[in-house]
Amino acid sequence: MRYNRKEIQKEKGNTMSEKKIIGSYADLAPNSAYELVYEEYLGDIKTAGIILRHRKSGARVCLMANDDENKMFCAAFKTPPSNSTGVPHIIEHSVLNGSKNYPSRDPFMALAKSSLQTFLNAMTFPDKTIYPVASCNDKDFRNLMHVYMDSVFYPNIYKSKFTFMQEGWHYELDSADDELRINGVVYSEMKGAMSSPEGIIDDEINLHLQPDTTYGVNSGGDPEVIPELSYEEFLNFHRTFYHPSNSYIFVYGNCDMDERLRFMDEEYLSNFDEIDFRPEIRPQPRWNSKEPRYCRSVYDGGESDDLEGKAFFAFNTMAGSSLDVLEKRACDVLSTVLVNSDFAPVKTALVNAGIGEDIYGGFSGHMLENTFSVIVKNAKEEDLGSFVDIVRDTLAKEVEKGINEKAIRAALNVAEFNFREANYGGFPKGLDYCINILQSWLYDDSAAFTYLHFLDDIEKLKGLIGTGYYEDIVRKYILDSNHTMILTLVPEKGLTDRKNRELAEKLAEYKKGLAPKEIGRIVSEAKALREYQSMPPTEEELNCIPYLERSDISPETVPFFNEEKTVAGVKTVFHDVDTNGITYANLYFDFGKLPHKYVPYAGLLMAVLGRVDTEKRSFEDLSIDISLNTGSLTFEPCIIGKYGAADGYRAFFGIKMRVLSDKVAYAAETSAEILTSSKLDDRTRLKAIIAEVKSEKQREIMFSGSSVAAARTRSYFSKTGCLNEQLGGIEFYQFVSDLLENFDDRYDELKENLIKTKNFIFDPSNAILSLAADETGCRAVEENLPALMGALEGLDREYLGEPEEYVPVCRNEGVIIASRVQYVARSGNMRKAGFKPSGVLNVVKNSVDIDYLYQQIRVKGGAYGCGCSIAADSGNVSFTSFRDPNLKETDEVYSKIGEFVRNYEADETEMTKGVIGAFSKFDRPMSSVQKAARSFAAYISGVTYEDVVRERSEMLGITLEQFRETAAVFDEIYSQGYRCTVGSSKIREVPELFDNIIVLD
Ligand SMILES: [Zn+2]
Repeated sequence: MRYNRKEIQKEKGNTMSEKKIIGSYADLAPNSAYELVYEEYLGDIKTAGIILRHRKSGARVCLMANDDENKMFCAAFKTPPSNSTGVPHIIEHSVLNGSKNYPSRDPFMALAKSSLQTFLNAMTFPDKTIYPVASCNDKDFRNLMHVYMDSVFYPNIYKSKFTFMQEGWHYELDSADDELRINGVVYSEMKGAMSSPEGIIDDEINLHLQPDTTYGVNSGGDPEVIPELSYEEFLNFHRTFYHPSNSYIFVYGNCDMDERLRFMDEEYLSNFDEIDFRPEIRPQPRWNSKEPRYCRSVYDGGESDDLEGKAFFAFNTMAGSSLDVLEKRACDVLSTVLVNSDFAPVKTALVNAGIGEDIYGGFSGHMLENTFSVIVKNAKEEDLGSFVDIVRDTLAKEVEKGINEKAIRAALNVAEFNFREANYGGFPKGLDYCINILQSWLYDDSAAFTYLHFLDDIEKLKGLIGTGYYEDIVRKYILDSNHTMILTLVPEKGLTDRKNRELAEKLAEYKKGLAPKEIGRIVSEAKALREYQSMPPTEEELNCIPYLERSDISPETVPFFNEEKTVAGVKTVFHDVDTNGITYANLYFDFGKLPHKYVPYAGLLMAVLGRVDTEKRSFEDLSIDISLNTGSLTFEPCIIGKYGAADGYRAFFGIKMRVLSDKVAYAAETSAEILTSSKLDDRTRLKAIIAEVKSEKQREIMFSGSSVAAARTRSYFSKTGCLNEQLGGIEFYQFVSDLLENFDDRYDELKENLIKTKNFIFDPSNAILSLAADETGCRAVEENLPALMGALEGLDREYLGEPEEYVPVCRNEGVIIASRVQYVARSGNMRKAGFKPSGVLNVVKNSVDIDYLYQQIRVKGGAYGCGCSIAADSGNVSFTSFRDPNLKETDEVYSKIGEFVRNYEADETEMTKGVIGAFSKFDRPMSSVQKAARSFAAYISGVTYEDVVRERSEMLGITLEQFRETAAVFDEIYSQGYRCTVGSSKIREVPELFDNIIVLD
């Protein structure tokens, strides 16, 4: 894929010849079990798209044939719920717990442990449930598909109630005298998800905006309603919705489609007869009123007494149908242009009026009808009226004067750049297409491919600029809306504690009303569940999941692409990868000598640079211009550990450019402008940015509590850990909170320190360039780098003090946040204790995660997630749990990892499975930009290709003895004793675990 008009034409020109690929499937259709419904060559993604119908069962099948080795299969079902018991979500978890041909208690985890999968998951949406898997290995792909088909059509949920109890909810009662409690995986997961206002606001919006539709209930499950779900209703949901007639099946990539179709027909689909079941999803009837409806909900305000300025406001309207694709794309553009970007007038107007600390929203999709929202976080309740007026007035003004055309072009440019770059991170491309297809196919059988004509739509949308088209959308769906809802979400102090108390009372009351016989039944059911969970797997269970051989894997792997060069006098590491005409130029500055008091300001610079006015341009214009001319231009720190050292690192701050080769000059000039003439003394703007940063960090602590807690533990013993805390951890969050609270007092210091820090960091004598580009791009960098370096040379640098060494201090903290669950972490360093990381540990980690932690913390403990991480460079090891109802129990589980490893039993087959699964984390397809980043990190840290091959050989050759010998590592890590838990006030119940307890708000 290349980025110019000519190439687009050529792609289209190729269409005819590539259409031949389709021929074979179409030819096969008349005599086969399938009939062809329609087919189309999808030029934008170079894929033959074919829609088939399975004759006997009525299953819908979508084939996407292309040369992508990362093959993907997905079974999807339309599953609109009618209540908030979370039944679609609990089914999603449960069907992967054993099926007819794979009677193991947990085939999903068996695959996670033993497959070379590149993606393995299942997801519940508001109106559909999808089961996607992907792999680059053909044999593995067939195994995965087999297990997934078996799971969705023949799950073992009918055979016993245990899966429902474990994944959904169950009573916990050890003996008749104990307190009655409720636990379950989805129950805990949703408790965690609904702990924060950000986690509930989307559900609350849909509940009040579309109350008469399936979107008005919570498909994930409301913890207060989940216990209303009975086993029988649970089974009925599967019986009704998981029939091929209600299915959407995808096969994607470079695989033998004929053979895959035959397999699906013979093994599964032909066993079913088509039924007349078409769950209908109805649109929300409009209220036909110009007057908005006002609604109000509460969220947990935690322990704090200060609830002032913590309200959320949301302005919401219904928009158009998901089937109008062009309009949906226009809506996406408008979301950026009007609400979400730095140049968005709605955001600017609200910020200027001092309403709230963070503004986001726009049009949302993945439902039959789109909705529009503007959400404001941390506002004062009395500002509600002004909020509504400002949103309306600003949009009315925009429509009247015409929406900024340059801004629309900028948003379209970024969308097009991202599409052509096709960097999906770790996500399989096939899955991205599949989710796009379901945006229309789920509601219209004839519209499977409408979302895949991306480039044509972008051209059309460019043509519609200046015609009034965009303004009409705003008028139609927002200003003239006859269905508007204004939501206020306010904090209530101790809401969670109150709810927990109420639940405990309700359960105690319920228990009181039970006859001794019924109590006895609950005790024995809970006991039976624990016994079922603790039973060692049978031979049959162990051996039912197919797996690969060690010989299917090579110790050789993707090489590093590093060539040392000098470009315009700057030390350069060049990465020779195919970049499709894009130049990735990352100019890094080593800031290892920056005195520590300035490090948090470096963390802040990431959010400030490029987002304040320069001498030449306002920040809005700057932001539009950058979007119009580049894929992105950002300024961010990058910390790389030294390979083989317990605690060495290099700290860089990067200017990161993603541009077409002819825009390199633009990016270099703009970087110089930002770094030499940014107005770092714009009081109002700085305050707005800092409020936003605080809000983002808050969200991170709430949604990624495990990584936040683990990072905190590493700061107790590692210098790198200390640096990361200052740059972006809890310490940084406290720094930002304090700045915001005492803004006026600290303003002068803030302004001065930002400038000093910036000038210190961007020192040309500390620069190193990481470059991936074609010849034109390289030449452009060579030509434009000197001017940028010259400009930085002229910055006014002053002496900030001697470089310092971090001295880690062990604090062992409990960090209380407004949450109903815990994130429990422990860490330590193995190198300091004399252990050397080896490939063997990667295989052990795989078993510790799946055979031990998962069983103890998720299956038995009811937490949503858990895992251990081992860093090969530093030797840091961390154990974490995610959305965990427990704390002390989880820490006890960590204490016995060594014992588990020491007593590990496995025959050759089991060992091999563990080896294969461990490789799946390493052998994932990489985009060019990922290859370049991996290569640069290796260059800096000092890892060689030989190191990697040695580690892989160690993984491949692991023996049971070697496995067990690593037990000492886990004992050592636990005994080092570094621990931190982020979570609810439950932390206070285990004071023995913590030296300090702090409260974050
Ligand atoms: Zn889930």
